[in-house]
Amino acid sequence: MDTQILIIASGNPGKVREFKGLLSGLPLKVKAQPEGLDVEEAGSTFTANARIKALAVAAETGEWALADDSGLSVDALGGAPGVHSARYAPSDPERIARLLQALESEDKRNACFCAALCVAAPDGTVLLEVEGQCKGWITRTPRGDQGFGYDPIFEVEGTQATFAEMSLQDKKAHGHRGRAFTLLEPRLRQLLSQQ
Ligand code: IMP
Repeated sequence: MDTQILIIASGNPGKVREFKGLLSGLPLKVKAQPEGLDVEEAGSTFTANARIKALAVAAETGEWALADDSGLSVDALGGAPGVHSARYAPSDPERIARLLQALESEDKRNACFCAALCVAAPDGTVLLEVEGQCKGWITRTPRGDQGFGYDPIFEVEGTQATFAEMSLQDKKAHGHRGRAFTLLEPRLRQLLSQQ
């Protein structure tokens, strides 16, 4: 039987590389999505957005597709920036500045990073959906220089370290994406064994 193809539903080459690495132990032919394919993230939850992207790319390519959607939800801001995390301000430093400003007089600083993953088939079937979470809080000032995005202002529960102060390995173990993938991997392996 032919090896199952899985398209990574993302235009971000860094994400495609990361997923290729994570999926390297599975009997899959992992490919990037075709250039120029831009799917609007119109959902109101991470799971909805991952599903929209996976279904669109699976339909477009005629192959299984894997999509992810992630972001940071802050309790005191009613879950914002949430699904708008990437668009909260034009750049990472401006996003951090806006969030610290919004929480300036706030003592309740609990927050949660979330990553949703979805695998869909070209006939419109959602094959797998998982969600990984990482709880913590927003620091008063940025700390650390690793990582990206909101990493310097997110302290991970139980570690006293921000994501930006962690090694890549520790971030994988504690982080939302690593946890989501840990949930997905055995289920994807089982699905492939049934093909
Ligand atoms: P996505 O590419 O649509 O999933 O957008 C996710 C956005 O959420 C990114 O642009 C970041 O701003 C933020 N984000 C998601 N995961 C992380 C993380 O691990 N560290 C810092 N920021 C993150």
